[in-house]
Order: sequence, then structure tokens, then C-alpha cells
Amino acid sequence: MLACDLDRFKAVNDSFGHAAGDALLRVVADRMQGVIRPYDTVARLGGDEFAIVLTYLDAPCWAIRIAEQLIAVVSEPIDLDGQVVEVGVSIGLTLATEQNATADELFKRADIALYEAKAAGRNTYREFEIDAGVRIALRGQLGLDMKEAIRRGEFQLAYQPVVDAATGAVVSFEALMRWHHPTQGKISPGTFIPLAEETGLIVPLGVWALQEACREAIHWPAHIHVAVNVSAVQLRREGLEASVLSALASSGLPATRLKLEVTESVMMQDSDTVLACLHRLRSLGVLIALDDFGTGYSSLSYLRRFPFDKIKIDQAFVRDIADPDAAAIVRAVVGIGERLGMGIVAEGIETVEQLDLVRREGCTLVQGFLFSPPIPSHEARKYMAAAQGRAA
Ligand code: C2E
Ligand code: MG
Ligand code: MG
Repeated sequence: MLACDLDRFKAVNDSFGHAAGDALLRVVADRMQGVIRPYDTVARLGGDEFAIVLTYLDAPCWAIRIAEQLIAVVSEPIDLDGQVVEVGVSIGLTLATEQNATADELFKRADIALYEAKAAGRNTYREFEIDAGVRIALRGQLGLDMKEAIRRGEFQLAYQPVVDAATGAVVSFEALMRWHHPTQGKISPGTFIPLAEETGLIVPLGVWALQEACREAIHWPAHIHVAVNVSAVQLRREGLEASVLSALASSGLPATRLKLEVTESVMMQDSDTVLACLHRLRSLGVLIALDDFGTGYSSLSYLRRFPFDKIKIDQAFVRDIADPDAAAIVRAVVGIGERLGMGIVAEGIETVEQLDLVRREGCTLVQGFLFSPPIPSHEARKYMAAAQGRAA
């Protein structure tokens, strides 16, 4: 949504009269129409105010490009019956998202941005940003805290069991990062992982997680694997392979007991270097799992491009498994996984009903609160001992 307001229109109206003003508005409207695309809409709201709705944007930057073109064409001299005048246009721009989808809200935001454009000297555009300053300041502080936190050892790993759906035996543990902030308390990975990725701190954090998880897993029974999540940012930078090798070497853990979980954002980078790195890790014996399958694009071509050892079906499908459509998708993914030799893990099992249903669709490995939430390392060791006792 673009809120537009002409600059210096009043001067034209006052000096040359209303007829000239009307003619000028028509010229401006024509020029605007010449810039927007057939499926966009421009409307005159009254006076010298226009609103433009842009639809089907391939990328948000297109809105900016259109705003720039609008500014360029409107500020060209205008001939009004021999009188050449010049006006400008200020534009406030906002993008509709799921959170600000109502027309009123959108227009309010575009209007706030328009005021900023006017304040910035007119004949320019501004994009609406909610409390941008506040947000940046907060993230900046948290980012700084995070640097300190790595040094001070405020991060911990929690471990969540992955269980054989038929026998209930523990097959592996997934290491999940936890941050206990000195003043803000527990901060969820959903908050600090994206921030760590943005700031690059995910690289030292990831190195630490690998070291820590391997050091812990060496105390477990030899058939139990440890899974560590790896961010796309870590794979994009050099050094992941070296970190993995060093974590294995310093802990003494065999490569075959380590599993790395990557999300499809890794595959979306479509980079040969990333794939080559995954292949090299795999040839060392490290297992590679595709995490959160079913969210995002879930392109089947990712499954062809790399021989994953495991596919983890996202909790979203498990949550809806009572719905026949969701169940059909799970069944299909299980079928594909079987054909390609990739094991399937169903994530986020919370109830016995969900367990029964994913089992019925052919999932052999399961993980979720029904078995255990992520727990501290000493509890994970107890959990293993108890599970072994049960099995015996
Ligand atoms: P993920 O790898 O898909 O991990 C599974 C998430 O689902 C975990 O959230 C886990 O606590 C949660 N979960 C497990 N079972 C259930 C269940 O039955 N019900 C519900 N509602 N949730 C369940 P968590 O620990 O908050 O981690 C969130 C995400 O943060 C992870 O998703 C992973 O993508 C990322 N993450 C966590 N630790 C690391 C790490 O060390 N490195 C990187 N790169 N990412 C990490
Ligand atoms: Mg994971
Ligand atoms: Mg997952």
C-alpha cells in the first residue's frame, strides 16, 4: 500500500486557479497509471492525496522500485496551457503481512510512513517500520549479551530422546540449546537462534554445541546416537567440517554416533559447496537428517539431491494427524523415505492417539513430550538407564 501526497500542489492551485489544479491532477493521475502494472490500483482519495495498492509483488523491493518511478515521473515538469509547473510527490509505503492484514491498519501504517517522507524533505518515500528503533536496540543488546553469555557459559544443552515406535527403546538423543539469561531468564531458541544467525554468533555457538554434545554422548551406551542441529549459516561458512572433526577427536566419539540435523534452508541455498561439505561429512560416517520436513517448501527434489539418513516430519503434521489429509501426507513421506532408504522420525508426539496414528502410517521412530521433553544431561542418563531396565 502506497499513500501519496503531492508536494507544492496548493501553490499551483492558489496561483493558477482550480481549473489548472484539476488539469494538473489529471496529468499526475495519468503518469501514475503509466508506472503501475495492470493489476495494481490507483485511487484519488481527495485533494492531492492518492493511494495505490500493489498486488502480486515478486519481492518487496518491487514496491520500492515503483515508488521511485512514481517520484521520478510526477516530478517531471507539467505544461498547463503554456504554464510550466513542477510538483513532487511524497510516498509512505507499507507491506501487508499476516499480522497487519486489515485495510484500516495498512492504511494507517502507510500514512505514518507518509508523514516521515514529508518530514524527510518531500519528494521521497519512506517505508513503515514498527518501532524500528526499539527493535534494533533490543536485538543489539541481546546480541551483545549473547557474546558475553558464550564466554560465561550461560548456554546449556538439553537432550530429548528419540524412541523406537515399536519397542519404546531409546535410539538417540537430540541436543537442543538452552540459554538462561541472567536477568531475562529463559530465552527460547526460537528467539536467540535467529539472532545468533543474523550476528554470526551461531558459528562459535555451533562449535560449542558440537563439542558439548559429543563430550556428553561418549558416556552413553554405544548404540545411542546424538543429534546436533546445524544452521544453514554454519554450512555456508567454512569450518563446519573442521569443527565436527575436532569435536569427534577431542571426545573420542565415533563419527557414526553423531547425527547432524539440517533444515531445508540448507538445501535451498542450492550451493555445490554446501552439498560437497555434507557429502564429505557423510563419508566420515556422520549421519545427516533433514529436519522439519513438511514446513517451508518441502521440495521433493531436496530428497533426490542428497542421500539423507533420516527425514524428520514436522510437528505440524503430527498435530493434525487425525485429519485424513495430514495422515495421507505422512504416509506418502514414509513411502518415499522407505524407497530412498531414509528413516522417518515423527516429531512432536504428545498423545497416545498421535503415537498410534503415526505408527499406523508407518513411522518407526518418534520423538515428543509423550516420551520426554528435552531434559538436562544427568536426567537423560537416568532416562536411558530406566529405559534399559524396562526393556530388560
Ligand atoms: P527442532 O530441531 O525441530 O527441535 C524440535 C523442537 O520441538 C524443540 O524446540 C523441542 O523442544 C520441541 N518439541 C519436542 N517435542 C515436542 C512436543 O511433543 N510438543 C511440542 N510442542 N514441542 C516439542 P526447541 O528446543 O525450542 O528448539 C526449537 C528449534 O531451535 C529447533 O527445532 C532447532 O531448529 C533450533 N535449535 C535448537 N537448538 C539448536 C542448536 O543447538 N543449533 C541450531 N542451529 N538450532 C537449534
Ligand atoms: Mg532438530
Ligand atoms: Mg524439527
